[in-house]
Amino acid sequence: MGTDDAADFTRRLKAQAFGLGFDLVGITTLGTPATRARFDTWLEAGHQGEMGYLAGEGAELRRDTRRPHAGATHAIVLATQYGGRAPSGPVARYARGDDYHELLRERTRALHHWLEAELGHPVNARPYVDSGPVLERDLAQRAGLGWFGKNTMLINPTAGSFFFLSSLFFALGSEVALVVDDPFAADRCGSCTRCLDACPTQAFTGPRVLDATQCISYLTIELRGAIPEALRERIGGLLYGCDVCQEVCPWNGKFSKPVTELAFASRKSLEGKDARSMALWLLSLSRSEYSTAFKGSPMKRAKLRGLKRNAAVVLGNVGSAQDVPSLISALSDEEPLVRGHAAWALGRIATSAALPAIETALLSETDSAVRAELSAGAESISVRSSPSESK
Ligand code: SF4
Ligand code: SF4
Repeated sequence: MGTDDAADFTRRLKAQAFGLGFDLVGITTLGTPATRARFDTWLEAGHQGEMGYLAGEGAELRRDTRRPHAGATHAIVLATQYGGRAPSGPVARYARGDDYHELLRERTRALHHWLEAELGHPVNARPYVDSGPVLERDLAQRAGLGWFGKNTMLINPTAGSFFFLSSLFFALGSEVALVVDDPFAADRCGSCTRCLDACPTQAFTGPRVLDATQCISYLTIELRGAIPEALRERIGGLLYGCDVCQEVCPWNGKFSKPVTELAFASRKSLEGKDARSMALWLLSLSRSEYSTAFKGSPMKRAKLRGLKRNAAVVLGNVGSAQDVPSLISALSDEEPLVRGHAAWALGRIATSAALPAIETALLSETDSAVRAELSAGAESISVRSSPSESK
């Protein structure tokens, strides 16, 4: 295959990807990620927290993109915008619509089928959509799609960073050649530090180093247990994920796009709800109401107990005396995690009307962590109740 043929085939492959709905497309070879050493240092520091799949065997596979899929030589890396222009809210933008995994996997598979049809034989290939052992941002930088911002996101100079990354790994035979893209070499953050300064929990230990254990996205989505008390207040009104370090980025201010993919548009059930009303709604959900409301939603990753835990934290931050009855109901939730965080929230709202309910809950509560939260909540109310209220 000559150079012209390779260029033509590459152009048609990319055109096919754009035609399928991908917004950015790059092609690269596989090999050792440029950020491999940084990744190892990050793991050694324990910044991955409970995301154990990133360490051990998962780390071994991530240290070389030739490892996850045997025989693969190239990857086509694909970015899909999810609506960075949408207003801020209690749920991160990426999670407001339908789960992106299956939609993007289908599109990536369609690209695979196109490759096979063009070449006239089966092609050894595998799609990855934010789920395989691949350092996807590294791969995207290698495929020319952007640079690593100081907020650790991949930033594209014409699209910002509010996009999903997916890729198709494939084995290219000798009968066909592709023109691979040059890695994106520039760092266009310059002297800007807006993302580092704006992070509510100061989760960056430095530029491009995120301690996930301090990040609101991790705390509200990945963390299965209790949110460390020292971080709860800083979560403010964020119920699921956090976009702050992307929102403040000037590249998003200038280049992020409105949502065009219907599947990623906000669900009706989330629309028009501020942090408080959404928290109250979440706390009120039965299991079957939750299953109906969140069918096909990425928010199911936190499970109902995680969403209710987050809702209690948000009410503790932005709620008022009006929300005390909902939090008192949550003291009898089947999940200790929810009961404990509801007790904390009652302690924060600190109205003496909650004291009898906390004392009653203490009589029957058997979970030691919840008992500790209840006692701390009661003490907080005693200390913080205003003299005027107790009259
Ligand atoms: Fe900080 Fe939010 Fe960015 Fe996490 S997502 S690093 S909490 S600004
Ligand atoms: Fe880079 Fe500034 Fe954007 Fe942070 S906010 S990623 S420093 S350009």
